[in-house]
Amino acid sequence: MLSKEKLTTAGKETEVISLSRVHFPVTALGPGRRVGIWFQGCSIRCPGCISADTWATHSPDMTVKNLLHSLGAWLSVCDGITISGGEPFEQLDALIELLEGIRESYSGDILVFTGYEKSKIECSLDKMAGLIDVLVTGPYRANEGQTKALRGSDNQELILLTDLGRERFEAFEDSTPIRKLDMMMGADGQIYFAGIPAPGDFTALKTALQLDGDQFVTTEDRRS
Ligand code: SF4
Repeated sequence: MLSKEKLTTAGKETEVISLSRVHFPVTALGPGRRVGIWFQGCSIRCPGCISADTWATHSPDMTVKNLLHSLGAWLSVCDGITISGGEPFEQLDALIELLEGIRESYSGDILVFTGYEKSKIECSLDKMAGLIDVLVTGPYRANEGQTKALRGSDNQELILLTDLGRERFEAFEDSTPIRKLDMMMGADGQIYFAGIPAPGDFTALKTALQLDGDQFVTTEDRRS
């Protein structure tokens, strides 16, 4: 778990947040062109997780207030918000302040991914009633199959919490999942993918690049 810290800016307390990255537009994690927000730090550590770069718990590095400020221009043009990680519920106070701040100025849908089962986070969810439209819960389990949209493995649950969530995401339950990935380049020159790849996608990409003489090293490779 990350240490809890608060800063006071302009006389108002704001949480500090450890963030992996923020990106717009993300098109592979929910309907439309979305703002993607990835928290840094996850203690769940599912074997086969494709986001191993978000596991380490860095020192909190920005305030939620500053993050909200940096999202401002995107909120007026995006179709939704997707929050993932890392594990958002391991920075609960920052998550709540972020959701409340987004809700103040944004009327689109908010989708949150968590590796915890819903039963484990009921108390936290009580504190954020109405702030999340759609929740995807549960750890990634490679042996559970992968046939459902927006889920890395079929044990994960898509929970529609509001009317807006039902309106925007109900169709996802019945649709054949279309696997697609967004590719983005970070300021550090590394390439990041957003979305849920099918099993073997990265192995196939790696093999194809190696045949062309290129190197492809994933965060998973670096850990092994
Ligand atoms: S909960 Fe999510 S980020 Fe954490 S290890 Fe599992 S799949 Fe990866």
